[in-house]
Amino acid sequence: MPKYIDIHAHTNFKAYEEDRDMVVSRALDDDTWLINIGTQYDTSKKAVEMTHEYGEGVYATIGLHPIHTTASYHDEAELGDDGKEFTSRGEIFDKEKYRELAREGKVVGIGECGLDYYHLSEDSIEKQKVAFIAQIELANELGLPLMLHVRNHSTDKTHNAYFDVYELIKKYSTIDGIKGVSHFFAGNVEDMKRFLEIGVYISFAGPITYKPKPEICDYEAVIKATPIDMILADTDSPYVAPVPHRGTRNEPIYIKDIVAKIAQIKGLNEEEVASQIVLNAKRLFDI
Ligand SMILES: [Zn+2]
Repeated sequence: MPKYIDIHAHTNFKAYEEDRDMVVSRALDDDTWLINIGTQYDTSKKAVEMTHEYGEGVYATIGLHPIHTTASYHDEAELGDDGKEFTSRGEIFDKEKYRELAREGKVVGIGECGLDYYHLSEDSIEKQKVAFIAQIELANELGLPLMLHVRNHSTDKTHNAYFDVYELIKKYSTIDGIKGVSHFFAGNVEDMKRFLEIGVYISFAGPITYKPKPEICDYEAVIKATPIDMILADTDSPYVAPVPHRGTRNEPIYIKDIVAKIAQIKGLNEEEVASQIVLNAKRLFDI
């Protein structure tokens, strides 16, 4: 059993093109396993390919991120600046293509999928929902957990993405018991409780180590209220590196700083929290 599992990293992205093997090997040598997350077909395929390049300890999820359902978004850390025309095109979730991809490697979940109300307008929400429902259906069919991305608008509170995701899972998921995990959780205690009610784990990322801004998200209250057997941790590499690495490119070995913060907030022993989180991840992803 490893000491840590980073349940959500993107070492499959362009940001690691120069030193990908070093980053992944550094994690494995440090007793840290990782799950690479697909965000569209190309990055999903790369995540699956990487499961073949490494032995035990490197897994993949495949799916279509809500921001990639429209043509407006392009991230250089993810895709690089070449192939821009192709990669920034809105992708329609093709269930058959992803179903085939799921057979090609150690695929342990579907996503990242969900709803992102941060950048986008009302008309894109419909597209996001269509893609999300199709991914819930694929997860049902393959018996895999959902890797959820949920994000609210920073000021407009008329829509709550957490509530909408909760409702869609409740309506469409046919999986018994545990249905997935909400990575980089930034909702409130009520959103968290609703997720627990439908069997969705709560995963915390680097921002829990930043200077608290409870008016935006009260991580301390949420972490204290989440039962330890439902908590996971993720780096979301290359983004949101935890303190003391904030502002640099993130990588899976920094998961330990996030786990240490969870232990500190909960007032529990760090080693015990680390091993409990590993157990939770192994249970959810069947690894
Ligand atoms: Zn991600």
